[in-house]
Amino acid sequence: MRSAITFCDPTTAAPQGRPDATDREAELRALMTMASHDLKNPLAAVAARVEMLRADHGDLGDDFLADLDAIERGLHRMNRLTQELLDYARADRDLDLTPSPLTELVADVVADHASTTGAAPVTVVGTLPTVVVDAPLLRHVLDNLVGNAIKYTPAGVVPDVEIRAHTLADGTSRIEVADHGIGIPATEQPRIFDAFHRCANSGGYPGTGLGLNICQRIVERHGGRIGVESNTGGGSRFWFTLPGTAETARQASLV
Ligand code: ADP
Repeated sequence: MRSAITFCDPTTAAPQGRPDATDREAELRALMTMASHDLKNPLAAVAARVEMLRADHGDLGDDFLADLDAIERGLHRMNRLTQELLDYARADRDLDLTPSPLTELVADVVADHASTTGAAPVTVVGTLPTVVVDAPLLRHVLDNLVGNAIKYTPAGVVPDVEIRAHTLADGTSRIEVADHGIGIPATEQPRIFDAFHRCANSGGYPGTGLGLNICQRIVERHGGRIGVESNTGGGSRFWFTLPGTAETARQASLV
């Protein structure tokens, strides 16, 4: 008779048939990707139905329209969360490192935000270096930081975002995205990169609390670090570093 107990050496692989922690995490991530991807179609279908209801029955009164508004707000939140769960899983894919001019990545991100805000509230100060990165993932980091800088500016105040970069003595690039928005209380700054953490002062602004966690994962996978400090004169200053050499970036991406 076979023993019901599986003996294993804890220093080696998990017992046969049982995934170890790494396999399990990969499995969970794959599941999350699949689930969030598959949620997109039904969400789009419901949104289309809501739009049809509004077009066909808009004369049913204020209560009806208020209900439709509430449904649409819920759908937007679900869409955002679904997208961020997908981004979260994608941040772990193999990196495709290529020399990428930061100027081009920033210009692309700024153009996107210019189309949503009607103007480009972003100033690039000085010149930006060429960095060895996975360009779509680094674009995601820039997009998130610039998007937050614009989003967390109070209504009625024109967003004012500055991007600058400099090279440290060891060749590392340090990139900064600064704003004059609502700022992040010093006591909350250490927790800002935790998944789902949202600051007490951001209640009136939409969000999921996942974006910065994804940025941190991407930057760290490139061998860099990310942080935040208060901006002189109000607002926040986010910074992140990237290794100066392709070899360092490549080594980090293998971890
Ligand atoms: P989200 O914006 O979706 O809530 P993030 O992970 O991007 O999630 O940010 C986490 C939290 O950090 C936000 O909820 C907000 O409280 C705070 N935050 C991020 N960026 C800024 C910023 N530029 N200014 C003020 N608060 C910010």
